[in-house]
Amino acid sequence: MRKLLLATFNSNKVREINQIAQDSGADFEFLYLKDFPDIKEVVEDGSSFEENAIKKAQGYYSQANIPTLAEDSGLSVVSLAGSPGIYSSRFAGEEKDDYHNNLKLLNMLKDETERDAQFICCAAVVLGPEVAKTFKGILSGNIAEEMKGNYGFGYDPVFIPFGYNQTLAEIGIKTKNKISHRKQAITLALDFLIKLSP
Ligand code: IMP
Repeated sequence: MRKLLLATFNSNKVREINQIAQDSGADFEFLYLKDFPDIKEVVEDGSSFEENAIKKAQGYYSQANIPTLAEDSGLSVVSLAGSPGIYSSRFAGEEKDDYHNNLKLLNMLKDETERDAQFICCAAVVLGPEVAKTFKGILSGNIAEEMKGNYGFGYDPVFIPFGYNQTLAEIGIKTKNKISHRKQAITLALDFLIKLSP
């Protein structure tokens, strides 16, 4: 079985990525950051999802020394010129509070009719020093008028994917994992790894 460090401290991402890997039928043995008690958190100070994903994958690879998969993701709202973007998790402050992030977004879009948005995920795979490969996934939709649903995390309660009439937090993780930005990017990354050593 191929060992792969799933380099995120976000337990929601871990849960989704595990499910995505299971659905893909690939036989990866995931290791987690909690398996490395001395590992130091990598600072996400890049200027794009791609830069941050590479920073995380390289930063954790250099400490753990095993093939590493990291991702950076967020919400990009058309009428806010792409914001909150790479600042999605701390949109309403450093506490990284999902509820207040959603509240701030809904307030900013009050009276706004252009509500199109995209979830973007960039996955980065690092197999050796200096070498990173990246994969992108996008889920398009629009921002609801209010928060709805109890599943998922982040902006799921306010995001309605095109073709659906419920938020991701109402739809639930099973369907989310068939269509999400994360599903697309992680599947491409795992396919790449499988092709390297079938
Ligand atoms: P990161 O950990 O720096 O990549 O921040 C990701 C942030 O983007 C999360 O804290 C959420 O606010 C938002 N985000 C990314 N993916 C999703 C998703 O699948 N659903 C809801 N929010 C998401």
